Amino acid sequence: NKQLLLRDYVSGFPKESDLYVTSSTLKLKLPQGSEEVLVKNLYLSCDPYMRNRMKKLLNPASYADSFNLHSPISGYGVAKVIESGDPKFKEGDLVWGITGWEQYSIINATQAQTLFKIHDTDVPLSYYTGILGMPGMTAYVGFYELCSPKKGEYVFISAASGAVGQLVGQFAKLLGCYVVGSAGSKEKVDLLKTKFGFDEAFNYKEEPDLDAALKRYFPEGIDIYFENVGGKMLDAVLLNLRLHARIAGCGMISQYNLERPEGVHNLMHLILKQARLEGFVVTSYYHLYPKFLELVLPSIKQGKIVYVEDVAEGLESGPAALVGLFAGRNVGKQLVVVSRE
Ligand code: NDP
Repeated sequence: NKQLLLRDYVSGFPKESDLYVTSSTLKLKLPQGSEEVLVKNLYLSCDPYMRNRMKKLLNPASYADSFNLHSPISGYGVAKVIESGDPKFKEGDLVWGITGWEQYSIINATQAQTLFKIHDTDVPLSYYTGILGMPGMTAYVGFYELCSPKKGEYVFISAASGAVGQLVGQFAKLLGCYVVGSAGSKEKVDLLKTKFGFDEAFNYKEEPDLDAALKRYFPEGIDIYFENVGGKMLDAVLLNLRLHARIAGCGMISQYNLERPEGVHNLMHLILKQARLEGFVVTSYYHLYPKFLELVLPSIKQGKIVYVEDVAEGLESGPAALVGLFAGRNVGKQLVVVSRE
């Protein structure tokens, strides 16, 4: 059973060499009386929150604990059930949820509470690591549940071409909003405008003055900011809010590798603009998953919503794929294929 492990806890930017592939033996049979599920992993999801789990968290107040150095790292994935001692699953079922970064895993679905049965396979199965999985739900919750968006509103999204951002932008366009995204390369900016239908997009790395850039795209200010990056971008957005603006505090990836997070200076503008910034953790909203599927599945099938994936082949490509998120190497949703069937 090929597995991917963390060598040691990481500070600063993670490197490929922080992770390594090894092999162990695993009997492909559940012990007698087991209530667990034995799965074959197909697709693994590279997610920014995994960076936090690479740290030695002394007081894990966050939603995920540190990785165990002596077992494979874990994260979201799509898998096929080989054997089940859990009455909710049976052999042959396809599932998505928390699994190990390895070829085969034994999962206690009741304990993990995040193993969903996949019912619709008319769409690419890998989508359940992205648009139809955790990142898709994140886009849905952050945009619809937290921001109460209305037609015609001015929406700004950072890390806009990524797993979450590309979907938020398309939701906003379908609703009739004016949508601008920021991303870190020309290729990504082009994708936002041509593939995802954003009204405008810009490369934040080429903007010496983010406040001026936002004023250029939002002369009347921003109603909704979907926050994925934090730091200087958040500060610039705060200077450009409209009255009663809403900010979905989804992530702050620019801060994840810093030993000391940057300060935010313009919070006063929340008061001046009577605006709301609300953080959220998607796992608290999984009860909305069926409602989310009802909205998104038909839109994908009708071609109203598209999704771009960045696919790395084989568990060996896992370290580069995962750490690449923090250098912006991924174009679209980053995932790793362990096996296609
Ligand atoms: P992406 O697919 O967008 O990948 C990460 C992207 O972040 C990179 O491609 C890069 O894009 C950008 N990035 C990396 N470093 C920096 C930096 N220093 N400054 C600015 N941008 C940077 O990831 P996801 O869509 O999966 O996640 C987006 C955000 O949502 C993250 O902050 C994540 O933590 C958060 N999240 C929160 C959840 C929740 O429950 N609250 C659940 C899931 C995700 P670029 O080239 O454009 O810079």
